[in-house]
Amino acid sequence: MATQELVGRVASAVANPGLHQAVARSVDRHSYAALAALTPEVREIYKARARAARLRSVRHMAELAAQFIAQAESHGIIVHTADDAAEAVRIVAEIAKSHGVRRIVKSKSMATEEVELNAHLGAEGMSVLETDLGEYIVQLAGQKPSHIVAPCLHMTRDEIAALFSREAGRQIATDTPSLTAFARERLREEFRLADLGISGGNFLVASEGALVMVTNEGNGRMCTTLPKVHVALVGIEKLVRDFADLADAVRILPVASTGQLITSYVSIIRRPAQSGEEGPQEVHIVLMDSGRSEILGSRYEEVLACIRCGACLDICPVYRQTGGHAYGSVYSGPIGAVLTPLLRAEPSAQALPFLSSLCGACTDVCPVGIHLHEHLVALRARAVARGVAFPAESGAFRGLRRAWTPARRYRLTRRLMRGALRLGGGARQLRAWTAGRSLPRVAARPVADRLRAEGLIDEER
Ligand code: SF4
Repeated sequence: MATQELVGRVASAVANPGLHQAVARSVDRHSYAALAALTPEVREIYKARARAARLRSVRHMAELAAQFIAQAESHGIIVHTADDAAEAVRIVAEIAKSHGVRRIVKSKSMATEEVELNAHLGAEGMSVLETDLGEYIVQLAGQKPSHIVAPCLHMTRDEIAALFSREAGRQIATDTPSLTAFARERLREEFRLADLGISGGNFLVASEGALVMVTNEGNGRMCTTLPKVHVALVGIEKLVRDFADLADAVRILPVASTGQLITSYVSIIRRPAQSGEEGPQEVHIVLMDSGRSEILGSRYEEVLACIRCGACLDICPVYRQTGGHAYGSVYSGPIGAVLTPLLRAEPSAQALPFLSSLCGACTDVCPVGIHLHEHLVALRARAVARGVAFPAESGAFRGLRRAWTPARRYRLTRRLMRGALRLGGGARQLRAWTAGRSLPRVAARPVADRLRAEGLIDEER
């Protein structure tokens, strides 16, 4: 049932050519810019350093968390720990209620999306306004972000202008200055009126007790400086050891994400405002576990090194056809298909690793070298073992196993297929497949025959 829902979401995304065009246009722009930003040699150096820095932090997460808490509290930041999503939401809601908060401005944060913070605070009677431009657009549209870096990349400029025009009650033009001018006009007053600012965090520096935000829009700074209280909700995997490790991670993040050598803002928050200074009088950081610790020590541990750059989404041939909403998870694309089943137990999450062609492009582009395609294969095996599989596919493989046992039947099929391919491919499906791509030429001698001749596989295969 859960897998049918996933198939239904994918089918409706694939049947939407407007969505496909909007997604493809954006992800191509990101991917080409990321590729052009550095030479391959420099990229490999950056990647090796970032991977080492992130893995070091992941492996010492518990010690770094203790160090971070001690350091942050020594500067006057109030640190809370949340074992799960419910506790994280409860902590944020209690902070807000204790200050009589009614209006909240929020900067982009996937952790807050993960726990559905806005809905919970809304149910407590508080209004939460997203202030990142992309998040503001998807909030107005009543949708969820479809990409971890570019939340509204699935929407066209015309759709956004229509949405803003409806909100404004007048015609807003489709050019970027007009669209951003409208958003700016709407948001500026809200920053001034808000009682609470909520943010996420890209990194937490343990040695300094510092929260680090890497952004391209000024809204992050407005949310964390104008309201009198600031709350940051951050997953514990965002811890890094010190500023040296932070530098290695921060340097590669914008390059992998959008091809920028540096982002517009790197904000480091170490304490609340002191008397006479402008800024929030209280800063709270909620360190959220919510399943992260269970990944530690497992074969999937390196997944926690992810810096949420979005490069694996941009390069993924499945994501570019479907966009992010088809995944039914706040984390989409290859990292979403790996991380979501590790964080959420329900069958619809366990089926996500099947949303991959296993081409390995995600692993190639990952700036911290996470072996995404290997984790996808392992998680598929786990899903099958747990009984979460696509019935038609499982039936097809059972049928093939029966049809090709003993192995000589498989060899006969292979010979027939080679003949058909040499003749140009007889099957209608194959012709349709090759209409948009070229098929490699059939080798003069099958690789299995060559391996057998070398004694590398046995006679029966
Ligand atoms: S898995 Fe790698 S490529 Fe994908 S978002 Fe994380 S860091 Fe970026």
